Amino acid sequence: MQHLPPVLSPTCVPMDELCDELSRLADTITDVSDWPLKSLELCGQRGVYRWFLPEELGGYGWSASDQIRGYLRLSQADLTTTFVITQYMGAVRRIAASGNTAVIEQWLESLASGKQFSTVGISHLTTSRRHLKRPVLRAEESGDGYILDGIAPWVTGASHADLYIVGATLTNSQQILLAVPSTLCGIKAGPGHELVALSASCTDQVSFDRVHVTRTMLLNGPSENVLKSATGIRTGGLQTSTLAVGLAQAAVQFLSSESIKRMDLKDAATELRQEVGALSERLLKMSEGDSDCDTSEIRTAANRLALRSTQAALTAAKGAGFVNGHPVGRWCREALFFLVWSCPQPIAQAHLCELAFDTHS
Ligand SMILES: Cc1cc2nc3c(=O)[nH]c(=O)nc-3n(C[C@H](O)[C@H](O)[C@H](O)COP(=O)(O)OP(=O)(O)OC[C@H]3O[C@@H](n4cnc5c(N)ncnc54)[C@H](O)[C@@H]3O)c2cc1C
Repeated sequence: MQHLPPVLSPTCVPMDELCDELSRLADTITDVSDWPLKSLELCGQRGVYRWFLPEELGGYGWSASDQIRGYLRLSQADLTTTFVITQYMGAVRRIAASGNTAVIEQWLESLASGKQFSTVGISHLTTSRRHLKRPVLRAEESGDGYILDGIAPWVTGASHADLYIVGATLTNSQQILLAVPSTLCGIKAGPGHELVALSASCTDQVSFDRVHVTRTMLLNGPSENVLKSATGIRTGGLQTSTLAVGLAQAAVQFLSSESIKRMDLKDAATELRQEVGALSERLLKMSEGDSDCDTSEIRTAANRLALRSTQAALTAAKGAGFVNGHPVGRWCREALFFLVWSCPQPIAQAHLCELAFDTHS
C-alpha cells in the first residue's frame, strides 16, 4: 500500500491533495456498480477515519469544529463518498461510545484504519417506517442473546459491510442496538437501489431471517429510546447540515469561477458566497457549544441553501449543465437528497409550507 501523509488538520496540504483527488474521482461515481472503493481507501490511508476517535482509541481526537471543517471540505469535493463516510463513522462512534470492550477490541482498529467497513441501519427507530403498527426489525430474547427478524430498510453500503450497527425492537417495545457481523447466517443485503442521486452509496435494505446474535454483540439497551441513551451520540445532528453546506460550497465555487468572465453572474455569486460563509460560521459556532443557534433552524437553512445554490449554478451552466456528466446537474440532484435524509418531521413540514405557499404572489 502506498504511504500517504496523514491529514492532521482540515487546512493542511495533505487535505488539499486528498480533496483534489476525491473531486477528480467524483465524476466517475454514478451508479450502484461504482461503489467508491478507491476514494474510501484513500481516506483510510490519509487517516480520515481517525479524526472522529479519541487518542486513547487510536484516533486523532479532532475537536467537533474541526470535524465540521473536515466534512465541509470533503463534501464539497465528493458528496457520495462523504455521505458513505458519515454512515461508516456513525457505526464507529457508536461502537466507541458503547463501552463494549469485546466489540471495541475486535473491530475498532480495523475500522479506523479502513481495512474493514461498517455502517448503520437505525432509521427505523427514528425517521423511517414509524407509521407502521409492527416494528420492521424485531428482536426476541433467546438464551444467550436475541433472535433478529425483519428488515433494516435503509443501510448505506449494505452489501459492502463487514459489520452492521442495527437497532431492533423487543416484544415489550424496548429497543436494543447491536453490532452484527454481516457473515451471520440468515442475513441478506440488497445490492443498492438506483436512486435520484448518490446511487453509488449502494443503499438498500438488509433482511434478517431469524438471525441469532449473542448478548456479547449488544452495544446499548434494552431501553425505551436506545439511540438517545448512547452517550455522546446525537442523531440528526450537525453533520447532515454540514454536508448540505459543503454541496452548496461546490455550487457557489462554480458560480464564482463563471462570474469572473460573466458580469451578469457577479451579484448572485457574491450573495450566495456570503450566505454559505455565514452558515458555515453558524455551524462552527454551534459545534463549539453556542446555544443561541438552533439545530433545526440551521438544518432548514442548509437544505434551502443547497437547493438554491445548485439551481443557481445550473441556471448559469445553461443547457451544458443539463447534459449528463456535467457536475452541476449532479449537484442539483444531490441537493434533493437533503429533503429526505434523516429529515425530522418539523423540518419536512417547514419545507412543505414553503413549497406549497407562494410568498411572492
Ligand atoms: C440514499 C439514502 C441513504 C440512507 N442511508 C441510511 C443509512 O445508512 N442508515 C440509516 O439508518 N438510514 C438511512 N437512510 C434513511 C433516512 O435517513 C430516512 O429515514 C428515510 O429517508 C425515510 O424515508 P422512508 O421512505 O423510509 O420514510 P417513511 O416514513 O417510512 O415513508 C415511506 C412511505 O410511507 C408512507 N407514509 C409515511 N408516513 C406515513 C403516515 N404517517 N401515514 C401513512 N403513510 C405514511 C408514504 O407513502 C411514504 O412514501 C437513508 C436514506 C436515503 C434516501
